[in-house]
Parts: sequence; C-alpha cells; structure tokens
Amino acid sequence: MTSQQPVLAAAASAAKTRQARVVWGSLVVTVGGGAPVRVQSMTNTDTVDVIGTAIQVKQLALAGSEMVRLTVNTPEAAQAVAPIREQLDRMGIDVPLIGDFHYNGHRLLTDHPDCAQALSKYRINPGNVGKGDKRDRQFGLMIEAAMRWNKPVRIGVNWGSLDQALLATLMDQNRQRATPWGTKSVMYEALISSALDSAAQAVELGMDPNQLILSCKVSGVQDLIAVYRELARRCDYALHLGLTEAGMGSKGTVASAAGLSVLLQEGIGDTIRVSLTPQPGESRSQEVIVATEILQALELRSFVPSVTACPGCGRTTSTTFQELTQKIERFLREKMPLWHQRYPGVENLKVAVMGCIVNGPGESKQADIGISLPGTGEAPAAPVFIDGEKRMTLRGEAIAEEFQAIVENYIKTRFGTADADLASSSVTP
Ligand code: SF4
Repeated sequence: MTSQQPVLAAAASAAKTRQARVVWGSLVVTVGGGAPVRVQSMTNTDTVDVIGTAIQVKQLALAGSEMVRLTVNTPEAAQAVAPIREQLDRMGIDVPLIGDFHYNGHRLLTDHPDCAQALSKYRINPGNVGKGDKRDRQFGLMIEAAMRWNKPVRIGVNWGSLDQALLATLMDQNRQRATPWGTKSVMYEALISSALDSAAQAVELGMDPNQLILSCKVSGVQDLIAVYRELARRCDYALHLGLTEAGMGSKGTVASAAGLSVLLQEGIGDTIRVSLTPQPGESRSQEVIVATEILQALELRSFVPSVTACPGCGRTTSTTFQELTQKIERFLREKMPLWHQRYPGVENLKVAVMGCIVNGPGESKQADIGISLPGTGEAPAAPVFIDGEKRMTLRGEAIAEEFQAIVENYIKTRFGTADADLASSSVTP
C-alpha cells in the first residue's frame, strides 16, 4: 500500500490587496499588500476624558493592538484628540490613533485641524455622511481633509447604518428583474456597493487608492463570510475585517473566531477588530487578546508564547493543574511588553502544562518547555521537559514558582542577547 504525504493547509497569502500606510512619528503600520494581518481595537471611554482615554489606549496597545480607534463625535471630543496624542507620546506609546466619524465628521475635521493632524487614519461611514445633496459635499470634505493631512481612510460600511437611499434604489432595481434576488442578497449588494462606490468617489476626488481600506461589517457569521468573499472578489483594496456587535463573553468570542477564521484562512482580511461587549468588570483589552489569539491559533502571527494545556479529567481532581496553567498564562502575558523588547522571538515559545502521565510527557516533549503534573494516584513529582528532554523533576508546594523561574531562565538563555540585556536594564514594563 502506498501512502501520500499529507498536504499542509496553510492560510492563503493576503498579498492580493493594495497596501495602506498608517503612520505616527517614525512608526509605520502597513495594512494589506502582504503585510502581517494587523490587530486593532476601539476605546469605550469618553474621548473628552483625555487621561482616561490615554490610559485605555495604552492598555490596548500593550495587549497587542497596533492601531486604536476613538470616537470623535463632538467638538469637545475633537479638541481632546491632540492632547490624548500628546499624553500618549509622553508615555512612550506610539500606537497610531484612528478617528471614528459619523454625521459631523466633515465639520470636525475642517474646524479642528489639530485633531485632523493628530489622527493617523480616519474612519468614514458612508451611511452616516449626510442625506440628499449634502451627502456628496460632506463626503468630499472628509476626503479633502484626508488628502490635506496625508491620512489613510477606512470606508467602513455597517449593516446597522446602511445608506438607505442606496438600499431603496437597489430594491427598486431588483423588482425589475425577471427573477428577483432574495432580500438578503440585495442587502449584501447594498453593503458592497456602498463601500465600492464610496471608494470610487474618493479616488475620483484624488485620493490615492492605496490609502483606502474597506469594510462591510455585519453581525451574522454566514453573512460576514458571504459579504467579504464577494467584496474581496470585486476589489483589491486592503480590507478591515470584523464581526460587528459580536456580543459578550463566549458567544462574541466564538462567533468572531468562527467568522474571521474562515475568511483569514482564505487570505481575506488585512486588519481585524473583535467587537466584544465587555462583561461587567472585564478589561477592554479582552477584545485585543481574542484578536491576537485568533491570529495565533491560525499560525498567521505570534504575539505571546503559547501554552498548551490539557482539559483535565477525572485524573486531575485537585485544582493545582488549573491554577498552574492560569498562573503561567498570566505570567507570560504580563511579561510580554518587556520581553518583546528584550527577547526578540520569545512570542514563538511553546509551553506545555499537562495534568497527568497519560499525555503529559508526550505533549511536554513537543513543546519547548513543558511540565507533566502528577495526576490522582501518581507519585507527587512533576517532570520538566526542555527541548524534548526530561531535565528535572519538581516536588513539593512551590512547583508553580519553580516552573515559572525555569521558564524565565530558559527565555533569557534562548532569546536574550548581551546587548539586549544591557539595553533593557533601563526599560520598565
Ligand atoms: S493528560 Fe491526563 S489529566 Fe490531562 S486530559 Fe489527558 S488523561 Fe486527563
């Protein structure tokens, strides 16, 4: 019997799109054109609260957000943008800021040049630009501001604020068809047409097509997949991908992961946002953690060392195993802002924390560093495997602390350089 080598299914290259440049100072975040899929997020503070907003932007950036969007909805919010930018610069946070505009963006961008300049990108929702005659003029003013300040623009269409005039026209045209499309197909077409027509209008006004990013957000997973497949087929603009109003907790997380993964695997999507409703008391950064984990699970990017852990079963009746896994995950994530500078490549580290002898040693050997905890009835000893070899056995009450120290030491030895260690002695996390 002959056997064939299994085909490895890699995510399709995302190099099919144009590339936009989102710039702040010397930092350039490229979007599309084969650049890594970028993670972005949005604050939920009142933009007028300069310090509160700057603190949240910093938290989002440290969690892995490469661009952060703020709502700019009033003159007061527009006046707060430059001070937020200055505060971030003082804190050493150079993450580019994106202004989210609806209804009055043309006025805010015209009346507040400091805001227009401090932002690195503008989001325009073509469904909320204005009605009738005003629509084109107000859209044109925003595009003019983008060109004057050399900023990229996302044409961000949303299912919940779709251009109603365009939808009505498409519905009328549909009624004339010999075999009319279903209502959903007309909605899809309206979303896509709104984005493409607005992009064409911006280009006609002189906007560089490389500086345009499109999105057509919907809240249903199958709708998202259908709309983005069609959008990607019909244009080569960089695409911002996200499931809007995904929801809370596991529902929002799973729905976002399901929709985004299908598209990312097909090479569709150049920047992503996971729109989670925070649970009471939950950090806003959770949406960034989910976005980075989606990209990491797909092996498109690495952000933090990954921890492989078994689910546990009747062989793990104590909570030691769960607590160690949680401690190690938290430890690795908290250390990353500092390690990112000090230990280049550390984000690719693989750690295993396993519950018993059944799969523990095998899985630990596959990781860079792994521990197999004793299951119920096993001798109270936890072998530690480093680079596939059993190196030591931990015992007693301080297994978690000792394993953490072993992991940190391994990282220093494998990823540290003398120069980086010296340079980083002045860096604070
Ligand atoms: S490795 Fe052991 S503890 Fe973990 S799920 Fe498998 S049998 Fe259960």
